[in-house]
Amino acid sequence: MTATSNSPDDGSQTISSQAIVSMRSASFGYADRAVISNVTMDIHAGEVVAVLGPNGSGKSTLVKGLLGLNNHLGGQVALFGTPIDRFHDHARLGYVPQRHTLSASVRATVAEVVAIGRLPHQSWLGRANQEDRRIIAESLAVVGLDDRAAVDVSTLSGGQQRRVLIARALAAQPDVLIMDEPTAGIDLASQEILSQVLARLAARGATMLIVTHELQALSRVLTRIIQINQGRVTFDGLPASHELSQAPPGPALDGHDGHHHDGDDDLPRTWPAAGPLDRLPGFHDA
Ligand code: ADP
Ligand code: MG
Repeated sequence: MTATSNSPDDGSQTISSQAIVSMRSASFGYADRAVISNVTMDIHAGEVVAVLGPNGSGKSTLVKGLLGLNNHLGGQVALFGTPIDRFHDHARLGYVPQRHTLSASVRATVAEVVAIGRLPHQSWLGRANQEDRRIIAESLAVVGLDDRAAVDVSTLSGGQQRRVLIARALAAQPDVLIMDEPTAGIDLASQEILSQVLARLAARGATMLIVTHELQALSRVLTRIIQINQGRVTFDGLPASHELSQAPPGPALDGHDGHHHDGDDDLPRTWPAAGPLDRLPGFHDA
């Protein structure tokens, strides 16, 4: 089985019913102004996709479009085979927004924030049950914050708060994790830990769409690069054939040479071993 027709506007294109994300000549924008146009691609389970591009090129607009956070202005877009305008199963999409930390006024523990990720799985009056608590704890373990569950989030660093937000997204057991510059604007130590978190998620088979400027840190886990320039996709292919992957490592973004291809990852030993994501069903292929 390959693709099914879905009453295309132009009669010539068919969206994929198998893909997690399928776009045909899609455009997104604000009010009626298209910021990103003519995007055609499919993203399948297990892909780890970096979205690259200069500031203002439309990267955030593209991922927010998939989340229904701006206007779908043309072409076709389907999520899990359902046209986006009829898609309501938002718990399947995990989202970590750009430059987002928690307000200093939030009075909640780390575990309480992550528990928000469970809400889509609870009934209206539902309370967290044992299964919810287990998934919350596992999500915190994945991001290396299990020892902080009980502390007030406002006491954490920006990088740690970003990891809390990733844990919150994981707790919803999404089928795809969409992250907008998860490592930007945080201290180097947290960036390194976040890179390891992403590598660990990728090794577990998570499907991810990551807007980033830090290709080197992710180079071992990426399966695909999408380059955006001025609202258009100007490259979509294997990392090895992307020009930036050919360049020597830039001036010390991190300590990686970006060319480990020798088998196992090299995460710290303290990292949760064969782990939590094995038991987070959203991260298994169907
Ligand atoms: P990137 O994430 O690649 O830096 P964005 O998608 O944020 O780029 O922005 C692309 C363009 O869309 C910019 O010209 C920006 O001004 C415009 N834009 C972004 N957000 C909004 C918004 N909420 N309303 C109107 N225009 C916006
Ligand atoms: Mg952006």
